[in-house]
Amino acid sequence: MPDAPFDLILSDVRLDGRRCDLGLRDGRLARIAPAGTLTGGPVEPGRGLLALPGLVDGHIHLDKTFLGLPWLPHRPDGSVAGRIAAEKTQLAAIAEPMARRARHLVESIAARGTTAIRTHVDVDAGAGLAGLKALLALRAEVAHLLSLQIVAFPQSGVLRHARVLEDAVAAGADVVGGLDPACIDEDIEAQLAIVFGIAERRGVPIDIHLHDPGELGAFELRRIAARTRAAGLQGRVAVSHAYALGQVEEATLARTAAALALAGVAIMTNGPGPEAMPPVKRLVAEGVTVFVGSDNIRDAWSPYGNGDMLERARLVGYRAALLSDAELRLGLDLVTSAPAKVLGLPDPTLAEGAAADLVLVDAAHVPEAVAAAPPRALVVKAGRITARDGVLAR
Ligand SMILES: [Zn+2]
Repeated sequence: MPDAPFDLILSDVRLDGRRCDLGLRDGRLARIAPAGTLTGGPVEPGRGLLALPGLVDGHIHLDKTFLGLPWLPHRPDGSVAGRIAAEKTQLAAIAEPMARRARHLVESIAARGTTAIRTHVDVDAGAGLAGLKALLALRAEVAHLLSLQIVAFPQSGVLRHARVLEDAVAAGADVVGGLDPACIDEDIEAQLAIVFGIAERRGVPIDIHLHDPGELGAFELRRIAARTRAAGLQGRVAVSHAYALGQVEEATLARTAAALALAGVAIMTNGPGPEAMPPVKRLVAEGVTVFVGSDNIRDAWSPYGNGDMLERARLVGYRAALLSDAELRLGLDLVTSAPAKVLGLPDPTLAEGAAADLVLVDAAHVPEAVAAAPPRALVVKAGRITARDGVLAR
């Protein structure tokens, strides 16, 4: 019996060592068959390219980017508090509306094969919910390109902005954020009580930026793990950066990793430049979910970045010494299955029934794709072609 008609057939792609035809229907990967055997729909030649799941960026700041503007020189400032103040000044001087800059960035990353993101958006008593509202509107406009999850991010601290943080979740933010309970708010338990309180009342996950260093940061991680278990939020809490995990001695690392694994607290790293970073292989071996994001892209925090998640996997893999083929496969997991799990999305691994979110690249297999980060030849979101050769399909 012939297959039911497909919306699109990707013919002759490489999939985990096999040459296959992929039949896409209703936004799903409906059928995987030996190459040259599928019929019943428009055919896009896969030309023997490697098919990977759509890439997932677990941590980005759409609202901060300068992308699309003339170059703005970076203003150095050593402290987090100083950088927050400098950023406010720089963004206030920009005429280009945030929604336009954010859209520019979304289109740029979608063309590079990212099909789902978790973006943070600044909320504080001064700016209110303007940024959140702009991103909620943008989410609908770009839904054909990528799925967008929004974290209410208290960039200016939690204690003085608790009301607006909760208002943001009530207004549609998907996740409640936090930031350096010790070094920003100087009251660990007070900040965590507010963040976890909002999560419990509103039924949303948590994602906390944690730059606090060394033993202090590790202590905070264990307090976050303890509160996660007490609140029954296992699998719904992430900590971004967690530099401390790359700074503490073995005994503290072992104790903290065990607490994170037991509580199902995930750790995000972007492979930060000069900072110590969480030991990726060690944490994964201990049962901790580790995922990757771009973080800052061409903004007041960093002039670097382009949102290319294969490049980011390569960067993290380089810094974390992902060298064997098995470790390079972990590199892909860090930008696909792991962040998808944190975002509460189905596993994006390409199998019959999975979402038809995928990219084609010129590589023989996954380890080569992670090590080489080749350009994206084709991007498909929900069964529709959204980009070819790095350019959005119009
Ligand atoms: Zn961030």
